[in-house]
Amino acid sequence: MSKKIARERRLGIMGGTFDPIHYGHLVAAEGARYSFNLEKVFFIPAGNPPHKPGHIVCEPSIRYKMTCLAVASNPFFCSSPMEVERPGPSFTIDTVRTMMHLHPEKRIYFITGADAILEIFSWKDSDILLSMCNFVAATRPGYCLKELNEKLDSFPNSFKQNISYMEVPALAISSTDIRQRVREGKPIKYLLPETVEDYILRNNLYR
Ligand code: NAP
Repeated sequence: MSKKIARERRLGIMGGTFDPIHYGHLVAAEGARYSFNLEKVFFIPAGNPPHKPGHIVCEPSIRYKMTCLAVASNPFFCSSPMEVERPGPSFTIDTVRTMMHLHPEKRIYFITGADAILEIFSWKDSDILLSMCNFVAATRPGYCLKELNEKLDSFPNSFKQNISYMEVPALAISSTDIRQRVREGKPIKYLLPETVEDYILRNNLYR
């Protein structure tokens, strides 16, 4: 009698400030979807990031709107206003818990920048979080993998096995650079989807 092996079903959460979202984020999400067999990737912009009070340039609702525009053409991507609508600081543990509640049969993969993952032990309830879901740390070209590996080596094994990293050449694009380009009147075409570019220019963002 043939035995059917149940395959783990997986969902991705793409976490970030997305100020603004750009092709680097989209390429990273698509790479993670392919590499980790994710059924869908939910882009969830941070509403009120606890680690950088006063540093966000754009309102959460505007960053969410740009995220919706950016993911509209990919049937495997969607965006969620969960963090934008939740009052108080945006803690990842709350987001992961909500997603696990909404999708109890799925394993969650949280994808974000490697620099953010390096600081994970400063996040709220990080030890619980690290045991609840998997993390994918996306790195930019030239990123010092030594630092990431050393940091990961210092994590307990039970946590380490839930963290992977992924090199993403398209992450040469950065939100900081895009904001600066807009401020200086330089072109941002081909760095982010046209719909997002139009939205930025029409609404005079980052001037
Ligand atoms: P950040 O410090 O703004 O970003 C760190 C680096 O990672 C930047 O170079 C950034 O590039 C890149 N990055 C950010 N999101 C990315 C993504 N999804 N894919 C690839 N690269 C990405 O980090 P952040 O955006 O504020 O936070 C990242 C995630 O961690 C968010 O979901 C945030 O809520 C979560 N977080 C949670 C806690 C907590 O629960 N206490 C604390 C800190 C962070 P760009 O600027 O080009 O995006």
